[in-house]
Amino acid sequence: MSSYTSLRAAILVVSTTAARDPSTDAADATLRDVFKKDGGGRWLVTETKIVSDVVSQIQHQIMLWTDTADPVNVIVTTGGTGFAVTDQTPEAVTPLLHKSAPGLVHGMLAASLSVTPFAVMSRPVAGVRNKTVILTLPGSPKGARENLEAVIKTLAHACTLAAGGDSRVLHSGGVERLEKEAGINSETGSSESVLSQHPHHHSHHHSHHHHQHGHNRGHGGPVRHSKGEETPKSNDPNLGPSRRHRSSPYPMLSVDDALTLLLEHTPEPKPVAAQVNEKLLGLVLAEHITAKEDVPAFRASIVDGYAVVAPKDGNLKGVFPVAAVSHASPGEVDTLEEGTVARITTGAPLPPGATAVIMVEDTVLKSKTDDGMEEKEVEILADGVREGDNVREVGSDIRKDTVILERGEQISAVGGEIGLLASVGVSEVQVYRRPVVGILSTGDELVQHDRPGELRHGEVRDTNRPMLLSAVKNWGFEAVDLGIASDKPGTLEETLRDALRQVDLVISTGGVSMGELDLLKPTIERSLGGTIHFGRVAMKPGKPTTFATVTVKNNTGQREKKVIFALPGNPASALVTFHLFVLPALHKMSGVSPPGLAKVPVVLSHDVYLDKVRPEYHRATVSVGPDGLLYAASTGGQRSSKVGSLHQANALLCLPSGVEPMRKGTKVEALLMGNLRADA
Ligand code: AMP
Ligand code: MG
Repeated sequence: MSSYTSLRAAILVVSTTAARDPSTDAADATLRDVFKKDGGGRWLVTETKIVSDVVSQIQHQIMLWTDTADPVNVIVTTGGTGFAVTDQTPEAVTPLLHKSAPGLVHGMLAASLSVTPFAVMSRPVAGVRNKTVILTLPGSPKGARENLEAVIKTLAHACTLAAGGDSRVLHSGGVERLEKEAGINSETGSSESVLSQHPHHHSHHHSHHHHQHGHNRGHGGPVRHSKGEETPKSNDPNLGPSRRHRSSPYPMLSVDDALTLLLEHTPEPKPVAAQVNEKLLGLVLAEHITAKEDVPAFRASIVDGYAVVAPKDGNLKGVFPVAAVSHASPGEVDTLEEGTVARITTGAPLPPGATAVIMVEDTVLKSKTDDGMEEKEVEILADGVREGDNVREVGSDIRKDTVILERGEQISAVGGEIGLLASVGVSEVQVYRRPVVGILSTGDELVQHDRPGELRHGEVRDTNRPMLLSAVKNWGFEAVDLGIASDKPGTLEETLRDALRQVDLVISTGGVSMGELDLLKPTIERSLGGTIHFGRVAMKPGKPTTFATVTVKNNTGQREKKVIFALPGNPASALVTFHLFVLPALHKMSGVSPPGLAKVPVVLSHDVYLDKVRPEYHRATVSVGPDGLLYAASTGGQRSSKVGSLHQANALLCLPSGVEPMRKGTKVEALLMGNLRADA
């Protein structure tokens, strides 16, 4: 059969034991044997790898084999398909499949069931990723062999089609020819309808209508998507640049509508316990806090002076022996006898029996002890002395069990709330968890910002990553550097998958314009099964700003909603849209209310030109003028690639669209990004 080239198979052994000691693996040799003996001479096993039962390792290896210019034709995994806690091969493979192949699963299960009823304990999946067919076989060599034998006769044909073979040519001899070539002897044979599930190559003339009818999946067949009823609007990158949309299929939202949508879809804040220390700064309380103790916890003096027993008539003029001394230190103090006084310092406990304190300023030293070191007698000059004078009663500052801080309050950097918590013995509080933000740059042109040497033609220094890492940290969130991803679908998908495991929210920049290498939207929708809530906003800069959520399984197997912001690549656009959209989402996730930047009225220091169509968020420096008003000066040229427009910018002016310039002296609203400056 000279018309056939050989097909390439890869074997992925999924076994934590075999990963530690490859000599324990028997499945690989068994499966090679099946490909050789039953494969009709068509198969070459060109790759074998052993990985542990770890989802990311399984996915990583599969994508290395499928997401390349030269993919293998089939990947068979063996192991990890059972019901044990560590078995996760189907969970790793399923999200990678672009098409599922239940027929292959059925074939494998039916064959095993005819051997043993325990076959129901295997959970195989099968399907196609890009041009490669993927099957998950059981881990036992015997089970793996039976399953592969059950489908191998039809596998070559499936793989040829998946690799892009022409179905008309392949179907021309009918099912009989296919069966004969596959070496299958069957009365009934495989049915024509199974084969015709492959999408036939029909004319392209309809394609320009497709997005209007919601059928813009192209010709690649059904694409896995978490919500079956929704059709991805994004380009299918497999179709190439000539088939991409020439105008965005995403509706253009107003900034307000976009903000409403994003607040609706951003996950709710999650309470966690936290110790009371400086790490609490910026966090929001998830519970009411009550005082654990009275402040002060003992009757204390407010001044330096003498503790006395206040007489009924208030007249305390006279000379008194100094019977005791009470300093601000822990320990018991002797009872004060009437007719004597005790020297006392600020904050020190009152001796039992004492009812008031006389300030040292209202006394005169009368006599010293013989060695001259100590006070013996003092004369008190005060009258009108009342019980409680200069005494802080127990609980008079804060009463035990009263609410001192409320749920929803933010711990400010000023430090006051920390002081309050510390004073009443609260050492642990429930707060909303600080979201972890991953920051990713995308683009083949990008190089590390600090790479030494001159740029080669076409290279660009990665500006957005160091800029956004700084902004995220400054606003009090944890930032993870996700590096630079290249403009290749597989790389981006893998990076995002890994990232979503580690972080709550991903900010990517670049790759959301209309170019054929703009992969963010298709990757989020088609590969990650995410939902794009908006993909276009009527604003300048930042029109292609994209907000999506993806549901992923976390390490304990629970489903969790994660957020992706795909921001435009131009640095000014990235920083503006971070403040306008990402910050409110981070605020919601951390319980900060109201979310987003504070808005203040400012006066324009000079004329400003407007955009004719889109409302603009104009970078400006706002400062306090001598008249106490806030004045705004533009930072200069506002082209979205101009990084200089960010220098000294502490505010975004909210300018409407319009034809005439806005005149000096006009009042507009400004969103404050940084501290006000004092001089105008
Ligand atoms: P894109 O949306 O990927 O087409 O990017 C738009 C523009 O922003 C292009 O000129 C990119 O080179 C530039 N750009 C994208 N990412 C970055 C980055 N991290 N740092 C500097 N410029 C960037
Ligand atoms: Mg790019």
